[in-house]
Amino acid sequence: MMQQEILLQLSPKDAADAATIQAELARHLAVQPKKISGFQILKKSIDARKRDVIINLKLKAFVNEPFEESKIPNFDFPDVSNSKYRTVIVGAGPAGLFAALELIQQGIKPIVLERGKNVRDRRRDLAVLNRDGILDEDSNYCFGEGGAGTYSDGKLYTRSNKRGSVDTILQLLVHFGADPSILYTAHPHIGTNKLPGIITSIREQIIESGGEVHFNQKLTDFNIQGNKIITVKTQSGDTFSGDQIILATGHSAKDVFYLLDEKNILIEPKPFALGVRIEHPQALIDSIQYHCPVWQGRGSYLPPASYQLVDQVNHRGVFSFCMCPGGIIATASTSQNALVINGWSPSKRNNPFANSGMVVQVELGDVMKGTRDGGRGTRENLVLHDFQEMVERKAYDAGGGKFVAPAQRLTDFVEGKISNTLPETSYLRGIHAVDLNNILPSFISQTLRDGFKSFGKKMRGYLTEEAVIVAPESRTSSPVRIPRDEITLHHPHITNLYPCGEGAGYAGGIVSAAMDGIKVSKMIATTHQ
Ligand SMILES: Cc1cc2nc3c(=O)[nH]c(=O)nc-3n(C[C@H](O)[C@H](O)[C@H](O)COP(=O)(O)OP(=O)(O)OC[C@H]3O[C@@H](n4cnc5c(N)ncnc54)[C@H](O)[C@@H]3O)c2cc1C
Repeated sequence: MMQQEILLQLSPKDAADAATIQAELARHLAVQPKKISGFQILKKSIDARKRDVIINLKLKAFVNEPFEESKIPNFDFPDVSNSKYRTVIVGAGPAGLFAALELIQQGIKPIVLERGKNVRDRRRDLAVLNRDGILDEDSNYCFGEGGAGTYSDGKLYTRSNKRGSVDTILQLLVHFGADPSILYTAHPHIGTNKLPGIITSIREQIIESGGEVHFNQKLTDFNIQGNKIITVKTQSGDTFSGDQIILATGHSAKDVFYLLDEKNILIEPKPFALGVRIEHPQALIDSIQYHCPVWQGRGSYLPPASYQLVDQVNHRGVFSFCMCPGGIIATASTSQNALVINGWSPSKRNNPFANSGMVVQVELGDVMKGTRDGGRGTRENLVLHDFQEMVERKAYDAGGGKFVAPAQRLTDFVEGKISNTLPETSYLRGIHAVDLNNILPSFISQTLRDGFKSFGKKMRGYLTEEAVIVAPESRTSSPVRIPRDEITLHHPHITNLYPCGEGAGYAGGIVSAAMDGIKVSKMIATTHQ
């Protein structure tokens, strides 16, 4: 007998104890415990469907042979400082950073331009926003080194079934400092406190390998000749050139969408989802998901519970989005006088609230029917973007300014009345009672009301006056697509422009954005062969 793969189903307490796991392995393999030199966790998931919560463990046991710790691959980042090929990457989010790492591996020099600041300086701007309600339009929860995912929950799940590519992203994250448990946990996350260190290590690697990373360099113009971008210009007046331009500016870079539109570089409206963020006491969500009384709590061995809800009501999708157990609701605005709500969690997820986006699918037809009034004219390509902005401005005004958020108790929202009092919230800028049905377009508020009733049946106790909803959760994905050829991945009209990541419409979340960055860079490498 040598290495054996075994599935164990254990109680949360037993699954947290290495000696118990070892004893259970010995029992399953009918060998003495001392014959097992060690084990490796291949997969860990929680099954809370029945009253007793079970931890599923897929394990590799080493029997009658020395234990060998599994290692992540040895990533090689060569020196590209003298490479004859250079690619400009606009945006240092996961798409841009992982594109840069891949370019280096392919022997190409990346030049990364980022409008915001490095992670450390960015943190100060977040503190000012949270404390005083003063927003820096280039340095906030969406903009700055690491992109929108830096100060997030750092959830690393993706619906992508490209397992190999997902594994590579997770292994790279571990290489740059993430906890190795992300490699086997069913729903891994990193946490706001740990992400900045990882992002810093990635930047240091890019620079050490001869790449360039420039902060406070906001793309403001392109110099186009024929069907190619010759140089990109930044707000500071600097120009940068490369054989290719990867445009990975994320879903909040409105000025990039305007620039492309003004330059007649084709963009298209893209359906997205919009709604509210809901917050419950975490203990209530734990009690619903883990079938334990609220007073008793989930105990010491289970993580704060999460949930995922989805339904089709009024022929429209309504679903939970970016759920943050033990999290904080945050101001994800990028412009003055426009409110955007999102959520994050620290690695321990140890705050007393559970928050989640709850959003409704918005199609082009909904907006073409006359709800459009974003105040930026009638450009068809930006019609969904203008709709998004209209809701964000309305919500800002309804909150009364300084990023105070309009809010309502969940049950009051469903019944259509303004809340007399609001429950405690994690949202640092504070909340103000309004009827959100008057802020959200009616097709959204009606679908949300029906959705909440349905979710209250799926999760008994979810539809409660203890929950509060704040608006708007509006940056779920990009309201614009920057088209690209399916095979060559470049823009159909500008042949050295590579739209990439979430802002261009090719990713949703940290892992898929990173995967898209790698995909685009691999394609660019083939053009030099
Ligand atoms: C608060 C919050 C929590 C989130 N939580 C999670 C989570 O737990 N899990 C998850 O998977 N996803 C989460 N997301 C979403 C995730 O962050 C994004 O899906 C992901 O970051 C998209 O990656 P990207 O590289 O395509 O774009 P972005 O991360 O948006 O990066 C774009 C970068 O481009 C820069 N930029 C923009 N315009 C310009 C310009 N003109 N010139 C130069 N640079 C520019 C921006 O500053 C930014 O750094 C969260 C987002 C937020 C805001």
